[in-house]
Amino acid sequence: MSQPSLNQWQGCLAGVLVGDCFGFPYEDLPRKKTFPNTIEFIQDDLEKIKIGEMIPYDRGIKKPGNPSSPDGKPLPSWMSSSGSSSGGASNSGLRQYTDDTSMTITFAKFLIDSNNSLDYVNLARRFSAEYELDKPKMRGYGPGVKRLLTKFQEVNFKDVFQYALETFDGQGSLGNGCGMRISPVALYTINDPTLERLVDITIDSCLLTHTHPQGIFGGIFQALAVRQALLFGGRRKEKPSAIEFLNTFETEFKSILTNGATSRRTATYRTGYQIYQDKINVIRRFLEGGPSSWDLKKVIDELGNEVLSPKSIPTALFCFLASFQEIDFINTDNHFQRAITLAFTLGGDTDTIGGMTGAICGAYVGLDGFPQKFVASCEASGKILNVAEKLYGKCMTQILLNIRPVFNSSGFSVENPGNELHPG
Ligand SMILES: [Mg+2]
Repeated sequence: MSQPSLNQWQGCLAGVLVGDCFGFPYEDLPRKKTFPNTIEFIQDDLEKIKIGEMIPYDRGIKKPGNPSSPDGKPLPSWMSSSGSSSGGASNSGLRQYTDDTSMTITFAKFLIDSNNSLDYVNLARRFSAEYELDKPKMRGYGPGVKRLLTKFQEVNFKDVFQYALETFDGQGSLGNGCGMRISPVALYTINDPTLERLVDITIDSCLLTHTHPQGIFGGIFQALAVRQALLFGGRRKEKPSAIEFLNTFETEFKSILTNGATSRRTATYRTGYQIYQDKINVIRRFLEGGPSSWDLKKVIDELGNEVLSPKSIPTALFCFLASFQEIDFINTDNHFQRAITLAFTLGGDTDTIGGMTGAICGAYVGLDGFPQKFVASCEASGKILNVAEKLYGKCMTQILLNIRPVFNSSGFSVENPGNELHPG
């Protein structure tokens, strides 16, 4: 199997950005029932982006006196042609990213700057510092993460792993916050076929904010999905079917409980596994049934569109896999556009599910597979492509030097000259 290309790495992180920026304004669309045809509305909006007629939006709540839609109902504020005026609005007309992209970029930079040793206190510092910078921009951080990032500062980053454990009456959060920021780990650990580093870094970083076993397995699920998209996509000539992709994914996902390199680490959280296995079975049933079986309400009921990890992370994988083929109710021949349109159409947590779908699909099709203007229409597009390139450069250098860092459960590392540097 050939090395995934830089184009795929950039596609992965740009996929988070596009899914997040474009997905955010659709969050409340189906709930508010402002428009009778949500799908048509979203498709029309994405087409306008492609031809450069994007309407700037702001994230403020709908104000009185906004213009009306043709059926006389008020338009959401982000559709108002008066453009942005408040709440971190983008005066340039670029769509603004939220916490998903912010934390993904911070995580990627942390991996780039780390010299083969990962200091998770430093990661906590970086997340907190970025949150402070993000405050005036209304990036949509969840209340639980906000409290934790503030707490880290109050205690001067002492015992940073303690506080997430205390949340939700000691159960820990099972929100999708780990899954939404995890894609850089799949990139960073691409040269480790044992999955040991992917699992260790995912768990260690997740424990800063989300300690529930389902939150942790959600992070592993998303990281593995991105990894497989990198390895199976790009210029690879023989592409798998959606079912073949899912079957291989299932085997890999199962293996982390039994594989010698990962089982010790995952055993503690194994109660979080089964719900994802059940969701894989649901995805398979939908894929086998084909698009005619994809009643959107049924997809939402069975896979979910919420902020909980098991009710959003498998949904992103479904959106990617469902889009391997034409979908009669989505008018585009572009895989990436189809996948994020499906994610947005399901409603609910559209920025995060869109971002996670974008990460997987972007890694698979590569940046060249995105519709024109999608990436350039987002805030920080240059920055995220740059970060992807640096992370790629770092990992390629490690291959050239034949050095593979190995991390133990405490996050400390030892140098391990190895030859298992090429995936697959
Ligand atoms: Mg968000």
